[in-house]
Amino acid sequence: MFEKTEGIVLRVTEYKDTDKLLTVLTRDLGKVTLKARAVKSRNSKLRAASQLLAFSEFTVSEYQGRYVISEAVSKELFPELQTDIELLYLASYFVQVCDMVAQEADPMPELLSLLLNCLYALSKLKLPQLMVKAVFELRTACIAGFLPDLRGCAVCGREDPDRFNITQGVLQCASCRSEDANGIRMPISPGVLNAMRYICSCEPKRLFSFRLPEASYTELSQITESYLTVRLERGFSALDFYKSLFV
Ligand SMILES: [Zn+2]
Repeated sequence: MFEKTEGIVLRVTEYKDTDKLLTVLTRDLGKVTLKARAVKSRNSKLRAASQLLAFSEFTVSEYQGRYVISEAVSKELFPELQTDIELLYLASYFVQVCDMVAQEADPMPELLSLLLNCLYALSKLKLPQLMVKAVFELRTACIAGFLPDLRGCAVCGREDPDRFNITQGVLQCASCRSEDANGIRMPISPGVLNAMRYICSCEPKRLFSFRLPEASYTELSQITESYLTVRLERGFSALDFYKSLFV
């Protein structure tokens, strides 16, 4: 039986002499491993659609518990991301995060849409990298179940506190300490706080309809990166490579 599904290639693993295994974030099947047979041969029709970051439609058949690709049609290859080292590392970080957050047999269509929107924003809309990075990180945290509480100070209730406790995902004033005074706190400016409230609550198609001064994207991106990596309890090699380009 054949089945059609579309998705983004998150990871490509060499398999035997001629094959590759693709880890794909699909709309219908969640994260799946697809076997691309003979994809390394020069005239393979699967080649383009099987690249890292390709958004493709796959026709697959299930054989002994494994999906094998019979046909693959690329819908968007994001060539702009393949030729710019900064964009390539940033996009690779996005797919590493999705690979970790998504589970097999558990469709997360909102995560796929977010990833697609962010890759599109980087490659076609040419939006500021740190803006796209921050949107991806914060929104992914929300999808993964780590929606921060941004209503006001978790201790005194003030609406404009100046610290974000990334360990607890709550706001606090510099002078307010909760009973359990644990957690890493980062300063947060009013503009960045408003942007975070916006990103957490807006319609998916309005995700990039806010603007901040250039310097504020740095602050925003530092906070969202710390929040996501602390919550997921791990770092990402592509993120380290990306950041090493700027030191
Ligand atoms: Zn307070």
